[in-house]
Amino acid sequence: MILKSALMAGLTLLAFGAARAADGPGSVAPEVQTFTLGGLKLVAVHDGRFIAPNNAETFGVDAGPAAVAAVLAKAGAPTDKITVSVNALVVITPRHVALLDTGLGPRAGGVLQASLAQAGIAANSVTDVLITHTHGDHIGGLINAAGGSAFPKAVIRMSAKEWAWAKAQDAALVKAIGPQVKTFEPGTPVLPAITAIAIDGHTPGHVGYEISSGGAKLLDIGDTAHSSIISLAKPDWTMGFDGNASLSKASRRATLTGLAKTHELIFAPHFPFPGVGRVEKDGDGFTWKPALK
Ligand SMILES: [Zn+2]
Repeated sequence: MILKSALMAGLTLLAFGAARAADGPGSVAPEVQTFTLGGLKLVAVHDGRFIAPNNAETFGVDAGPAAVAAVLAKAGAPTDKITVSVNALVVITPRHVALLDTGLGPRAGGVLQASLAQAGIAANSVTDVLITHTHGDHIGGLINAAGGSAFPKAVIRMSAKEWAWAKAQDAALVKAIGPQVKTFEPGTPVLPAITAIAIDGHTPGHVGYEISSGGAKLLDIGDTAHSSIISLAKPDWTMGFDGNASLSKASRRATLTGLAKTHELIFAPHFPFPGVGRVEKDGDGFTWKPALK
C-alpha cells in the first residue's frame, strides 16, 4: 500500500498527498476541544484522518485480516477498514504556547491551521512545537502551503536521535525548519510543565510527552498505539508503521500496562477525536475510555 510505505519511509509530503488521494478522503471539518489539566489550558486540535484497508499491511500484519475483523466486530466497528484520526495538542502555560505535533500539513489535506484559528491560536503565537516523531502525519504541518515554515516564531523541539534520522532523508524539511530546531535527550524537561519520555521502536527517536500541573498528569503517547480498538486489544500484533516491530510491541505493552495501573490521562494523536481518555485492562489487552465527550 502506498500510504504504508510512504509513512514508513518518513515520506515526502508530495508522496503522502498522492497516497491520500488513493486511500480516500483525508479531510475533516476543523474542530477543537478545550480542557484543563491542573492549572493549564489544553486544546485538542483535529487535523485529518486516514483509512487503512483491513488487508494485513497496516494492522495485524502477523495476525491476518480475519483475526483483525473479529476484533473490530467485537467493538462494533466496520470490519473491512480501520479509520484513524489525526489529532494534535496545544498546551498553554503562563509563558509558552506549545503545539505537540502538527498533523498532515495543508498539502495533504490537514486542517490544523483552521482548527487552531477556531481556538484563537495564531501560528505566530506558537512559541514551541514539540514533535513526537518525524512521520509525515506528525510533521507535515510544519510546512505551510508555500513550502516555508508554518510556525516561524517557534522553537521546534524533538529528540536528537529523531532529528538525526530526519535530516538524513529529507533535505527539503531541513531547509524549511532546520534553523528553528533544538534537540533534546529524552527523560529531561523540555518545557517547565512538559517532560519528554522515550518510547522506543516506532521511529529511531520516538518520544511521548508527559504534561504535569498541580498533581494532574497527561501523557501524549505519540504513535505508541494507532487504533483505539486494534492497538489496545492486541498490543502484541505487528503494526506496519512501526519501524522496529518487536521493540514497538514491547514498548506498547509496557506503556499501556503502566497507564492502566495509574489511570493517567492520555492524549493519543490517532484515537477518535479529541483523543483524550484512559486505558483500562481488559483480559490480555486493553480498552479505551474517552474522557471528553
Ligand atoms: Zn502517526
